[in-house]
Amino acid sequence: MTTSSVASNLQVVLKRIETLSSEAHRTNVPALIAVSKTKPSSLLMEAYIAGQRDFGENYVQELVDKVPEMPNDVKWHFIGHLQSNKVAQLIDGVPNLDTIQTVDSEKLATKLNNKLSTLGRTVNVMIEVRTSSEESKVGGVLPADVPAFVSFLLKECPSLNLTGLMTIEEPNNFSCFDTLVALRTALFESGPLKDTGRSLVLSMGMSGSFEEAIRRGSDVIRVGSSIFGARG
Ligand SMILES: *Cc1c(COP(=O)(O)O)cnc(C)c1O
Repeated sequence: MTTSSVASNLQVVLKRIETLSSEAHRTNVPALIAVSKTKPSSLLMEAYIAGQRDFGENYVQELVDKVPEMPNDVKWHFIGHLQSNKVAQLIDGVPNLDTIQTVDSEKLATKLNNKLSTLGRTVNVMIEVRTSSEESKVGGVLPADVPAFVSFLLKECPSLNLTGLMTIEEPNNFSCFDTLVALRTALFESGPLKDTGRSLVLSMGMSGSFEEAIRRGSDVIRVGSSIFGARG
């Protein structure tokens, strides 16, 4: 019997999630998105056979190409920067699209909502939040602008089901995770989600940071290289 390195890497990550969750006395164990960008479907299948169902991809064309190569019960998460002109290709090409984690503008949200409503479909979305202070290439909505954006999504985008907030942290700056936690709290205590009965998950933490993210309250981690190996 041989175990693939993907399968054993996956087991290591899942075991760490479990250990950290119990140390943090978490009742809900964070979900694991296996980030498979640039990796061939043969490697994704190794993770699938080991039980993984949630996969994250960054590029529309690559995702659309992988969809027919993978079983239909895969839940795809789009986690890359989404350009408005790729919306139709993404929605048409990925019938089993579970969540778009990187909604970051009213323009993009409107385009997605219009496309989905003509098809009678809904998709889960997260707001990408820019928690990093550095003037970097990292995108996302500034924390101060998130409450208005949440209101916009709830009022104007019935085909988008807002399920969470997502962030890419500044390298080695774990206070980004605390910013996301505080933002969620504010949305429910005094912001547009007060008394709505809704809930939001937090997607934060990657290969080098998921342990700290879980300690600080992550609900969804996105792990690529620790499962599939370094990217070329
Ligand atoms: C590539 C990527 C990841 C995974 O990064 P690793 O360091 O390989 O785990 C997570 N989130 C986003 C948004 C990414 O683009």
